[in-house]
Amino acid sequence: MSKITLHDKTFKPFIPQAKIEEAIRKVADELNRDFADSKEPPVFLCVLNDAIVFTGELLKHTHFNSELVSIKLSSYQGTRSTGTVLNILGLTAPVKGKDVIICEDIVDTGNTIVALKELLLSEGAKSVRICTMLLKPEVYKKPEKLDYVGMEIPNAFIVGYGLDYNELGRNYSDIYVIDE
Ligand code: 5GP
Repeated sequence: MSKITLHDKTFKPFIPQAKIEEAIRKVADELNRDFADSKEPPVFLCVLNDAIVFTGELLKHTHFNSELVSIKLSSYQGTRSTGTVLNILGLTAPVKGKDVIICEDIVDTGNTIVALKELLLSEGAKSVRICTMLLKPEVYKKPEKLDYVGMEIPNAFIVGYGLDYNELGRNYSDIYVIDE
């Protein structure tokens, strides 16, 4: 693994694909345990675009029936959270009466996930669980419980495995951290 350059910034190798996918399989095992006996198929809600790769990998390791819905939100510009969560594209299908599992790539301040959970409940979701591939615990200070967490990372800006820097870098299978 060597360094990569995206726009004006350089990123160095941080988490190899094998480690990320081990963390995703652990989350899938927890979901398999919790949803094995559910009567109604839950809905996986993919938070576009960053969580596409994570959601695809996670679904491959689940063994219960489920549906897939997407939503596009944004609170990030460049390498920083703006604090305001924008709903760019609504839900691709209704979630009324459904058990929803939010699939998020990374929880930072938690503004996105908390706003999204409120939105889903206001749309009539029966229950909402939060599932994130990565968490920055140094930044996340909200009381909202995170039901499934793949891996905790320090407070640094990362790309790869679906995560971008101004739309570049999503295609890398490993995760890279900004080289400052
Ligand atoms: P929050 O609302 O929790 O502050 O931010 C969540 C969203 O910000 C994530 O879904 C992701 O899009 C973006 N984000 C947070 N940290 C990072 C990071 O280190 N790298 C990238 N590429 N995006 C991040």
